[in-house]
Amino acid sequence: MPSRPDNSTQSLPPIFIEQLGHTLPNGNLLTDPADTWVYGYDNSRRQVPPSAVALPTTHQQVVNIVKLCNKFSVPLTPRGRATGTPGGAVPLHHGVVLSCEKMNHILHNAPEDRYMIVQPGVINSAVQKQAQQDGFFWAPDPTSAAFCTVGGNLAYNSAGPRAIKYGTPRENVLGLRAVTGAGEEIRTGVRTSKGVVGFDLTRLIIGSEGTLAVITEATLKLIPLAQAKRTLRAIYQDIQSAAAAVSRIMAQPVTPSALEFIDGNAINMIRSYSNVSIPSEAGALLMIEVDGIEAGIDAATAIITDAASGTGLVDLQTARNQQEITSLWAMRKALSPALRTVAPKKINEDVVVPVSLMAELVTRLDRLAKKHDITIINFGHAGNGNIHVNLLIDPTEQQQLLRAERCLDELFTLVLELDGTLSGEHGVGIEKREFVGREIEPQTLTLMKRIKKQFDPNGILNPGKMFP
Ligand SMILES: Cc1cc2nc3c(=O)[nH]c(=O)nc-3n(C[C@H](O)[C@H](O)[C@H](O)COP(=O)(O)OP(=O)(O)OC[C@H]3O[C@@H](n4cnc5c(N)ncnc54)[C@H](O)[C@@H]3O)c2cc1C
Repeated sequence: MPSRPDNSTQSLPPIFIEQLGHTLPNGNLLTDPADTWVYGYDNSRRQVPPSAVALPTTHQQVVNIVKLCNKFSVPLTPRGRATGTPGGAVPLHHGVVLSCEKMNHILHNAPEDRYMIVQPGVINSAVQKQAQQDGFFWAPDPTSAAFCTVGGNLAYNSAGPRAIKYGTPRENVLGLRAVTGAGEEIRTGVRTSKGVVGFDLTRLIIGSEGTLAVITEATLKLIPLAQAKRTLRAIYQDIQSAAAAVSRIMAQPVTPSALEFIDGNAINMIRSYSNVSIPSEAGALLMIEVDGIEAGIDAATAIITDAASGTGLVDLQTARNQQEITSLWAMRKALSPALRTVAPKKINEDVVVPVSLMAELVTRLDRLAKKHDITIINFGHAGNGNIHVNLLIDPTEQQQLLRAERCLDELFTLVLELDGTLSGEHGVGIEKREFVGREIEPQTLTLMKRIKKQFDPNGILNPGKMFP
């Protein structure tokens, strides 16, 4: 929930600032409030200014910074490019922001071994560009790929449409180099495609939102680019028919490389705010991509077409060339500008339910929308049951905000009742921490807090995040 900015600053001991300066190259320590101010916010729209910003360029500098913060008990918040939505990069307790923006080098590219080692500040799209030159890609593909960093992707386990077939960072990182909250240097994982020695600390640190360790290097798993791809657009008369099609698609052996959906409210919005032509019976839309080898792509597409066909299908089209692909995506792509026009400060949640319960979730969300008098628009990664629930409110309207809070509370209860989870890819940060106790049982939460203590005994690393 957006909150009023915390404009206060806290000064750090001059001796700490002096020693921090010694750990960094000239010009890589910011202490002037005019410079540090912009490092206090992220896409959550919260703002808490840090007292200093460190811009390390090497692993060793990160080690020195973390050790120094321990010595002086100064909170330390890692930061990528601040595109995250739940507030993970906001320095809630002031202190130091460790921005990874200058740790932006690809350190080693080994397509023959199918991996690439990068610093955490490398932008996702730079990884994709390098990999593509060798005929590969890294699977995590958030829509923000042109701006967000690998460090942020790993910390939130961020993904995108391709996750349905190729997985999230947890499935696509072989190993890490990192500095724990205690200032210890660790290496996790392997550089091979198999490996079972020791606990899987790689998957523990991925998704830990910068609360256990600062990631200083990541060994990313590369996947060969598919030879061929087909794009399909299926329009259904209602969400029930679309959800039934998703269940049929997911219950057969050809996994699509993307399976995105938008609901009827979203379609109505596109109708009102764009010129895209939409059949009058349209009540839900699926965008489907199929990839594979050239020799098998038509057969795979036919199988998916068959599964997508059934009761309630209004229109199904397969693109044959780039122009047709662009035209099929036009309807889905018109949604974001429409949303920005109607509700630029909407609340966007990213809940997940089992695919077979998606229709029930959307139907019951409609009831919640009516009960709380709030327009809700749903779209998302249908193949993962990951639904972006958008509450179209103006957060400056107090009454609306209160109704939205009550509605969200009931939404989370509903999602857990349906065996779902509160976040599929955006993370917990500050925004969802009060709800975490509803999903994770007390004993498990206690064990997680003990693990946090092992990594970060003084609690300096990203305090105030993730845990209720
Ligand atoms: C237009 C837009 C579209 C988006 N689309 C998607 C989408 O499709 N899918 C999706 O999943 N998300 C999406 N997001 C959310 C966001 O882009 C992702 O969460 C992204 O991974 C955040 O990366 P970042 O570099 O901005 O990280 P930040 O926001 O700066 O940080 C995120 C978290 O990572 C931690 N962190 C950063 N670097 C490190 C490090 N080196 N070591 C340890 N912890 C670290 C921070 O402390 C914080 O907790 C979108 C955001 C926008 C604005």
